[in-house]
Amino acid sequence: MVKRTIQELKTKIKSGSAVIMTATELCDLVRSGESISMKDVDVVTSATRAVMSGTMAILSFRVSNKCEFTRAAEIYLDGVPAVLGPAPNENLGWIDCLVMGTAKNSKNEQYGGGHLFRNLVEGKEIEVFVRSIEGKEISATTSLKEMPYAMMFLTRGVCALMVYTNPAPEPMKTIFSVKEFGGNLSEATFSGCGELSPIKNDLEFHTFGIGTRILLNGAEGYILGKGTLSSNNRRNFSGIADMHHMDPEYMGGFKTSASPEVISTWAVPIPILNEDVFRTACVTDDLLELPIVDVYGRDHLGKAHFSDLWDRDGIFVKYHRSKCKELRSDCKDENGNFKCPPQELCPMDAFTLDQEINYNRCFHCGTCVAFCLQGICHSTMGKVRLGNKEIPIVLRHSDRIRAEKLAKKLRDKIISGEFELSEPVGEIKY
Ligand code: SF4
Ligand code: SF4
Repeated sequence: MVKRTIQELKTKIKSGSAVIMTATELCDLVRSGESISMKDVDVVTSATRAVMSGTMAILSFRVSNKCEFTRAAEIYLDGVPAVLGPAPNENLGWIDCLVMGTAKNSKNEQYGGGHLFRNLVEGKEIEVFVRSIEGKEISATTSLKEMPYAMMFLTRGVCALMVYTNPAPEPMKTIFSVKEFGGNLSEATFSGCGELSPIKNDLEFHTFGIGTRILLNGAEGYILGKGTLSSNNRRNFSGIADMHHMDPEYMGGFKTSASPEVISTWAVPIPILNEDVFRTACVTDDLLELPIVDVYGRDHLGKAHFSDLWDRDGIFVKYHRSKCKELRSDCKDENGNFKCPPQELCPMDAFTLDQEINYNRCFHCGTCVAFCLQGICHSTMGKVRLGNKEIPIVLRHSDRIRAEKLAKKLRDKIISGEFELSEPVGEIKY
């Protein structure tokens, strides 16, 4: 069996003779029927962008001069509550705190930690409210550049490749839907970037481990180890990166029918070390299975393939503004009032009538496609089958377009020498 080491690959990359491609580019070669072997590729870059609930940030910043209060008892950042500590910073006017990506503003339930993280990385000023243990109230503003420490941790980074549906008769509010999740298996949503995903490209974790260098939301970061709820047959991992180097387009908040969620994007290099790794990287969407589960308790209901969910040529979401203008007089609710579900429901606030979709924010989630009353938003949304029932996909919890963009960015950084492959310092054990 042909084998390579990471060190050998690093030398080849330095010499300029290494072949590096994204996982999609490799799978396209496989699809085209070209004869391709391990000698034709040295490194594959994989990526995923998805709603990832297990995201949090540890922030440290000043809110007042020294000795104005002893220690904080409560803190809110843009109205989002944070957990104080662990260091109390007694009498220093300084705060250390942990903000959950899924924490929400009590006055605006659709603004959460994920929105706050993106605003910080965009360079926006945020409002801070502190109540000290003596009952003193301190209002301040801060921004990422005033935080010497702002680290993002993902406790469960690359995970949950599943299709969700609701077999119960009643609709339900859940983080897995943007509108209340319709009952009686009437709709489905899913998470997972298929052949592009890091987990798919190295199921056994042969090429990465503790300390592997990655890109997290565009910043260089590291894999820390296994993630929460990770098990031998449903693996995921945890990671860390400095928010100061992140790119806002890869992150943010995401509105759901239950509570605000948080988005993150990972790109992971897969050095093609042996034939097994090569063969796994070559597996295409049509051969990749994922479970269909009951959204309520995640009980297994059936199986689908990623090719049922992603049509590579039909992912991009388009909105026909002129058609909307022609037809919108018929867009009404049951009381005859004007109603535009894409504008009401868009989880990224990227859809505004009479404007182009804001593609800087758009997640290509397909909500506007599924719920436009006149069918003038387009993308190929896919469907899954359970017995004789065909269930349409109404929401993608993953954004393959930006995942591909980060995979390309990682590819280009490796080629230019800006990003160096790293040896893991430890194995992720199960
Ligand atoms: S529902 Fe569709 S057609 Fe109607 S106003 Fe909204 S975008 Fe336009
Ligand atoms: S696909 Fe439509 S609903 Fe989804 S983020 Fe983009 S504009 Fe909003």
